[in-house]
Amino acid sequence: MKFTVLASGSKGNCTYYETPTAKIMIDCGISYRQVVQRLATHEIVLTDLDAVLVTHEHADHVNGIPSLLSKHDAQVYLSSKAYGKMHVNQKSGIDINNLNFISEEFMIGNCKITTIKTSHDSAESLGFVLEEDGVKIVHITDTGYLPQKLYPTIENADYYLFESNYDPELLLESRRPFFLKQRIMGNQGHLSNEQAALILKEVIGKKTRGVIFIHLSEECNTAFDAKIKHKEIIEQFESLEMEYSFQHKASSLIIL
Ligand SMILES: [Zn+2]
Ligand SMILES: [Zn+2]
Repeated sequence: MKFTVLASGSKGNCTYYETPTAKIMIDCGISYRQVVQRLATHEIVLTDLDAVLVTHEHADHVNGIPSLLSKHDAQVYLSSKAYGKMHVNQKSGIDINNLNFISEEFMIGNCKITTIKTSHDSAESLGFVLEEDGVKIVHITDTGYLPQKLYPTIENADYYLFESNYDPELLLESRRPFFLKQRIMGNQGHLSNEQAALILKEVIGKKTRGVIFIHLSEECNTAFDAKIKHKEIIEQFESLEMEYSFQHKASSLIIL
C-alpha cells in the first residue's frame, strides 16, 4: 500500500491511496490540475481511479470532485446526509450511477473500509480505516473530539493520517471573530495539537510506523508549535516517522 497527502488545510484537502487492488482518493478539495501536478512529484500518473471517499461536504473537501469525475469514472462513497447538503449547496457533480451511500463497512477491491462517525459542524462527518493484506491505515480529520469507545477501531494502525488543527494560544490571539474561535474549539470543530496527541498516545501500537499530521491551520498553527506539543505528550514520538502535511505541496510518498 502507498499513499501521499496532496493537500491539507482549510484551502483544500486531498489524499491519494494505492493498494494492490484499489486506487482511492479521500476528499478532493483542490483542482484537477493540482492533483495531477502533485502526484507527478512522486512520478504517479492518475489512471483507473476506483473510488473517492468523502469525509464531509465542506468546500475544502469536495470542491474538486466535479472536475475529477469529469476525467475519471470513479465511484463516490459518502454519507447520504452529506450528499443531501452538497446537492443543495452546489452541484455535486456526482452521476447517480457513481453514487454510493455508506454505512459501517464496505469493500473497494480487496481493501476493507470501515467508517467512523466523527463530530463536526457539517451534515454528517466520517473518518476512515483502510485495511488490506494486514496493513491498516487510519484517516481522521475535521472532528471536535473522538469518543474513547472508538479507540479499539483505530488502535495499532500501521500509519495514522490525523488532524492536528490548531494551537489554542495562536487561535485565541488570532483576529478571527469570537464565535468562530468557539466553533473551532468546540465539540463539533477541530482537534487541537494537544487533543490529537492525547488520542494518538493511546492508540499507537507495536506495529505503528508513523503519523502524518493533517489539516493544520495556516493562521492558528505551525508545524513547529505542533511538534513541541506532540513531542511532549506522545512518548513514542522519537521512535516513529512523524510528518506535517502542507497546504500547497504533496507530503512524502509513504510505501508500506
Ligand atoms: Zn476541513
Ligand atoms: Zn470541515
